[in-house]
Amino acid sequence: MTPHDPEQAITEARREFGEHGGVTPSIERSSTFTVIEPGEMPEIFAGNRSPDRDGCYLYSRHFNPTNDVLDRYLAAMEGTEFAVSTASGISAIACTLLQICESGSHIVAGSMIYGGSHALLMRLLPGMGITSTLVPSHDVRAFAAAIRPETRAIFVETMGNPALTIANIPELAALAREHDLKLVVDNTFTPMVVSPARLGADVVVHSMTKFINGASDLIAGCICCSREFGHALYDLHTGRVMLLGPTLDPRAGFDLIQRLPHLGIRMREHGRRALAIAARLEAIGVPVIYPGLPGHPGHALLKEMANPGYGFGGVLAIDCGSPEKADLLLSELQNTERFGLIAVSLGYYDTLMSCSGSSTSSEIPMEEQQDIGISPGLLRLSVGYTGALESRQAQIERAVRKVGLV
Ligand SMILES: *Cc1c(COP(=O)(O)O)cnc(C)c1O
Repeated sequence: MTPHDPEQAITEARREFGEHGGVTPSIERSSTFTVIEPGEMPEIFAGNRSPDRDGCYLYSRHFNPTNDVLDRYLAAMEGTEFAVSTASGISAIACTLLQICESGSHIVAGSMIYGGSHALLMRLLPGMGITSTLVPSHDVRAFAAAIRPETRAIFVETMGNPALTIANIPELAALAREHDLKLVVDNTFTPMVVSPARLGADVVVHSMTKFINGASDLIAGCICCSREFGHALYDLHTGRVMLLGPTLDPRAGFDLIQRLPHLGIRMREHGRRALAIAARLEAIGVPVIYPGLPGHPGHALLKEMANPGYGFGGVLAIDCGSPEKADLLLSELQNTERFGLIAVSLGYYDTLMSCSGSSTSSEIPMEEQQDIGISPGLLRLSVGYTGALESRQAQIERAVRKVGLV
């Protein structure tokens, strides 16, 4: 397969200028669009015309010119034919799974997933007749064993939240093809670092709230897929995006357009700093989890799957042993060292830190958290790129020593 460079792909896809020759595209905020001839309207409703088939816009829940620009860049980044931006990451996941599944369908999913996705699969979808089996995210054989005649999809995160398990996307893709299933990959932790569609995934979803946006000032998501699947999502009669309606505001769409060109440079710097901090912690004996460290069980696989030059992601985790110890470290890091902020979410320019078990994974019952490898003292850090790296390393070393982690 030809090597894929997501940053170069976005650069090549960028050809929009503003209405007056501006270097940025214009923002089209219209909810509705005029047609020249009345006869065009029924053609659009019949599905014979759309912006990518004869250039007719209708209504912004269907297609919007600003979001279309963003969607073209996202498709270029992931190496897919099509992309659909949505109002949140969770709506991208929900619409994708609901598009693939119907009542009676079954999903096999990795157990190391975002708490909201866990709740969607295990609490909400069963009430609609869609059940899921969770298996260890790294274990392809367990996925194979859980497939049933009514299975329609495999769902994993490239780098599982929060314990940073690496999924074997090429092997899961082969498994999905063999059983005629769709492989859906949540790539929120690793934009640019890994391009799952290039490794065989059918659909790649993101929470753009995180790294892709990078400023923690908006909520958004996207679905990168084939043209056929994208048109199905927008179908006027059955499209899950069309009829459940998680439409991205084009003003937020514009903000995202402006941030995609520097996503590559941000991911490299997040990754460089996360690796340097993880290496320092490992060297002094802190139980640190970071897939960029050679000792991480998924390191070789991630290296094999990764696009060269983007590092190994900006998230690391420290096992503090107990929630009390994790809280002590959090407080020390924020309130004494000013190392980062105690907050959920990730991908911000400052470091964001939270104890996963009691926050973003709290939807997962405690016993189950233990089973799948989320220890109660697991502290997740999304490493930012502000401040001098040397002082950041010194700050975290002081903090872990002070709370007695080493
Ligand atoms: C945050 C997150 C989501 C949900 O995204 P929202 O934009 O908050 O709806 C889904 N998956 C992962 C891995 C996440 O980190």
